[in-house]
Amino acid sequence: MQYYMPTRIIEDTDTVKKNAELLASYGQHAFIVTGKSSAKINGAYQDVVDALEANGVTHTLFDQVEENPSVETIEAGAAAGAECDYIITIGGGSPIDAAKGMAVLIANPEHDTYDMLFGQTGSKHLTVVAIPTTGGTGTESTPYAIYTDHKVKTKRNFSQKVFPIISLLDVKYYMFMPKNVRVSTCVDALTHLVEGYMNTNATKYSDYNALEGIRLWGQVKDALLREDVTEEEMTAFMNASTIAGFVISQTGTSIPHGMGYHLTYYHGMAHGQANGILMAGYLSVCQNKDKVKQILDLLGFKDLETFGGYMKSLFGPLCLTEDDLNTYADYIMSNARKLKNHPDPITRDDVMNIYKKAMA
Ligand code: NAP
Ligand code: ZN
Repeated sequence: MQYYMPTRIIEDTDTVKKNAELLASYGQHAFIVTGKSSAKINGAYQDVVDALEANGVTHTLFDQVEENPSVETIEAGAAAGAECDYIITIGGGSPIDAAKGMAVLIANPEHDTYDMLFGQTGSKHLTVVAIPTTGGTGTESTPYAIYTDHKVKTKRNFSQKVFPIISLLDVKYYMFMPKNVRVSTCVDALTHLVEGYMNTNATKYSDYNALEGIRLWGQVKDALLREDVTEEEMTAFMNASTIAGFVISQTGTSIPHGMGYHLTYYHGMAHGQANGILMAGYLSVCQNKDKVKQILDLLGFKDLETFGGYMKSLFGPLCLTEDDLNTYADYIMSNARKLKNHPDPITRDDVMNIYKKAMA
């Protein structure tokens, strides 16, 4: 048994400002990778620029990362950042994931993009510093990334492992999330905790984190039903998200994430929503009922029906046709990577039931 999560996490108020020298210590020219606008609106981009300029580090901005970033965007970013020494990435999972791929492509310019993103493992990469702003994917504490591959019309897992060298957490940036982004990203963190706990690769170390993350999340869950959250509540979600990253960096995610990719690709559903809406159905097919009960108790739900009702009150019911169901069920049944992370045998009927429970 082992536990490996080498990212240095620094959480504070005004974290970027207080760690300006550290942020500027990885090279002479930084490549800043963000989404289209949120990093400018929530102030994180300006904080980074101020920190770099105060320490004589020049910088280039790439602010074209879309949600669920595509292979084409990773390539465009790698071309724009080819001369940079290291990457500072600000945002939700999309820019941070994109930056991990760019870090590999920039360090290996002679290699084929597809081979680097989806074939090779252990390739060299530029140093990545992460400043997360959604609460969220946990990508600030995982080596993973997920890219939209339009050639195969779904999302695919990055084959390389790129942990950020440091992740700077400051809840003030998270407070800018609109309700729909907040709800979806916070639910994503819960799905990581649950899929990591109900996981073939779970160890006592990952379980300690998973149970604490689930407890923390459960304490603030009602805040997602409201229009606004307090800074204290958002801090709990932010911490649960990073802890969830600790968990899945050891275990990986499992069946709901694999099932959710098509809901995002074909139905435009946000990543966290796509997984969250499947969670109650997923837990209903899990054979370890003691663990399921433990999760529900920690979250403060009396049964799976109440838990499913909570998710539907956040997202509404899932709408799929019979054709959709059949196509997506076939896909997950062929996704050996996700299936092997789930400890019980799963049948195609189970998969259909998970989708149907979200539709009922
Ligand atoms: P996201 O796609 O990064 O961002 C969603 C939206 O929220 C964007 O419009 C973004 O705007 C906005 N936004 C981000 N931070 C904000 C803030 N503080 N205030 C206001 N708006 C903000 O969302 P995400 O859910 O964090 O990331 C999803 C991606 O992560 C998916 O591709 C998913 O597959 C991946 N993922 C990765 C891992 C992993 O371990 N690597 C785990 C789970 C999911 P801008 O575009 O303007 O920035
Ligand atoms: Zn996720």
